[in-house]
Amino acid sequence: MIYSPISEINLDGRIFYVKRDDLIDPFLAGNKYRKLYALLQTSNNTYNRIISYGGTQSNAMLAIAAMCKSKGWEFIYYTKKLSIFLKEQKDGNYFHALCLGMQHVEIEEKNYKGFISSLRFNLNEKSYIIDQGGADKSAQEGLQVLAKEIKESTLKIKSLATPSGTGTTALYLALALPEYKVYTTPCVGDVGYLREQMGALHPIPKNLIILNPSKKYHFAKPYSEFLEIYKKLLAGGIEFDLLYAPGMWKSLLEQTNEEVLYIHSGGITGNESMLARYKKKGL
Ligand SMILES: *Cc1c(COP(=O)(O)O)cnc(C)c1O
Repeated sequence: MIYSPISEINLDGRIFYVKRDDLIDPFLAGNKYRKLYALLQTSNNTYNRIISYGGTQSNAMLAIAAMCKSKGWEFIYYTKKLSIFLKEQKDGNYFHALCLGMQHVEIEEKNYKGFISSLRFNLNEKSYIIDQGGADKSAQEGLQVLAKEIKESTLKIKSLATPSGTGTTALYLALALPEYKVYTTPCVGDVGYLREQMGALHPIPKNLIILNPSKKYHFAKPYSEFLEIYKKLLAGGIEFDLLYAPGMWKSLLEQTNEEVLYIHSGGITGNESMLARYKKKGL
């Protein structure tokens, strides 16, 4: 695989650089490509089944489905009960993942937690479980590869940024690049929750700077200021996702002033369904 390119973008009069991990693959891109890198490198006959669980709009789900398709592995994905509306959608991550061969299994809400925690009990050696959102120690290797690409670029920038869900990406990137500042911001939950998630994987290094959003945002809810940033970035020539990127860009604009290399975390396949929700809300 060749290195993902770096683009320049002007946002509110400031120049930013963007590492275009969104261009790696239509479905298996962004930080999900980096996080699944180690699994992608294992030989096809190491496993025959990948098991995961979580939300049905998840970017991780779609990326795992694309990986399993290319590896010839079965992919079983567990979720809580779905709405009929989502089941019948002909676009979005859920639809695309089914097209890639994902086998979806719904679990009753009241049994869900117990079921998920029992998954590891009856696992054979050909099956591999990826925890929700790809928050897995196996993600480290792919982020070291990203770090190497960044170090070898001719850019002299020493500040990086990438948004956090579980924080796995930002954490391993910061660990691999101690000579850089890595900015992130929580897009799911608050700073305390993010620190807890990261801390479960590895102690948080000093060069990882968590920016506290100036306002509390709920994950996956439409906000007019998010749409505004999305549109400005799109007009600048790059499409970003609507769930994570706007919060990161907003915090960068408000709380930093140096030159920053933004690591595009992918996820734009979820935009179709998110834009439909913005429209429904009249935004
Ligand atoms: C999954 C995802 C994230 C969050 O990544 P973590 O490693 O869980 O912090 C950020 N941006 C996009 C677009 C994603 O799909």
